[in-house]
Amino acid sequence: MTGIADGRRRVIVLGSTGSIGVSALDVIAHLVDSGHARLDVVGLAAGSRSGLLAEQAGRLGVAHVAIADASRAGDIAVENVHAGPDAARELVEAVAEPGDLVVGAMVGAAGLPATIAAIDRGCDVALANKETLVAAGALVMPLARQRGVELYPVDSEHSAIAQCLRSGRGIDAVRRIVLTASGGPFRAWSPERIATATPADALSHPTWEMGRKISVDSASMMNKTLEVIEAHWLFGLDADGIEVVVHRQSIVHGFVEFVDGSVVAQLGPPDMRTPIQYALTGGTRRPGNSKRLDWRTLSSLDFEPVDPARFPALGLARSVIEQGGTSGAILNAANEIAVEAFLDERIPFPRIHDLVREALERLPVGPVETLQDVLAADAEARAFVAKSCLTAQESA
Ligand code: NDP
Repeated sequence: MTGIADGRRRVIVLGSTGSIGVSALDVIAHLVDSGHARLDVVGLAAGSRSGLLAEQAGRLGVAHVAIADASRAGDIAVENVHAGPDAARELVEAVAEPGDLVVGAMVGAAGLPATIAAIDRGCDVALANKETLVAAGALVMPLARQRGVELYPVDSEHSAIAQCLRSGRGIDAVRRIVLTASGGPFRAWSPERIATATPADALSHPTWEMGRKISVDSASMMNKTLEVIEAHWLFGLDADGIEVVVHRQSIVHGFVEFVDGSVVAQLGPPDMRTPIQYALTGGTRRPGNSKRLDWRTLSSLDFEPVDPARFPALGLARSVIEQGGTSGAILNAANEIAVEAFLDERIPFPRIHDLVREALERLPVGPVETLQDVLAADAEARAFVAKSCLTAQESA
């Protein structure tokens, strides 16, 4: 049986207990209950929240789950439980069939092996896990083409660009794309004040409710760095073709400027259910359950350039795109470890960017030919940043 037999589509949600995963299940329930899509959830994967995972599996009648924290596996009364750091990939390999849809909503490079396994098995992927493309776009994009599968971006900015591109005729008609950034909680803070930011400050995003790691990435604007690199891989543009503008209302998610001078933008309220649904339905328009724009209350849309003194991280995107190879894996892994150290109050906020830059400057960049190349660079960058954080703590 293939994943789309009888008009039904089988879906596996990786990262089902997170912000995107929970919203994806909400959108799936809406589409199924309203009769707008026949989606059948057949697998769920999570990191450690066993209670919520078990509740989701019970509610949806899912017989296959994965949990990375093996010590929590006993909490889940489900027929097939994969447990351990590689559990999500094992779940995909055990359950996924060609034509299934896999929602990639795990956080970090941990999502990479399972995403590659899904593509390899001929599944389309609704991809929120941007770290996968940042670290391994050089493997993921050719593999997706070779297996003939679709990658549907879930990131609101990339969904916006994908929607805008439909009004043109191919990437040759594009002059540049523009991704919007809310500016996060520190948009109007001075660099001196940002240097004193606490984890609680960084986690209080003004427009989006998201997981902890992406919230810190938004505060440092490393999230936009990751998104520029993600856009490079998804849309095949070089660094000159991708711009970022600060737009604090988060209503316009992206623009495409075409060669004739026309600019097409996509607008919507800051509600991830809109791009999630667009991805889950393969870009078809069905009645949705997300918030709506009320033009009567929308008095202004503001745009301003990114201030490099406040947000130096954005400058790293260009060097990664131009350098290629394992530089994306290094940037991503270094950032993951630095964000953890900041959230544990072991380093101050500006050290996140410094550590990522140092990792990019000091670690060797090699070609990406296999998943092993990516995983080795990832491990080296994690060790480099962990050691730097330890040294800094000892000398403090
Ligand atoms: P959350 O932290 O809310 O959720 C992360 C999910 O990944 C959780 O379900 C977590 O499980 C799971 N997870 C973590 N490690 C593993 C692992 N080793 N194996 C299996 N599952 C694991 O993050 P978000 O939902 O906010 O973000 C998810 C991804 O989507 C990120 O890549 C982010 O950049 C991207 N994204 C998020 C947006 C948002 O609005 N939130 C917008 C655009 C992109 P558990 O909680 O049980 O530990």
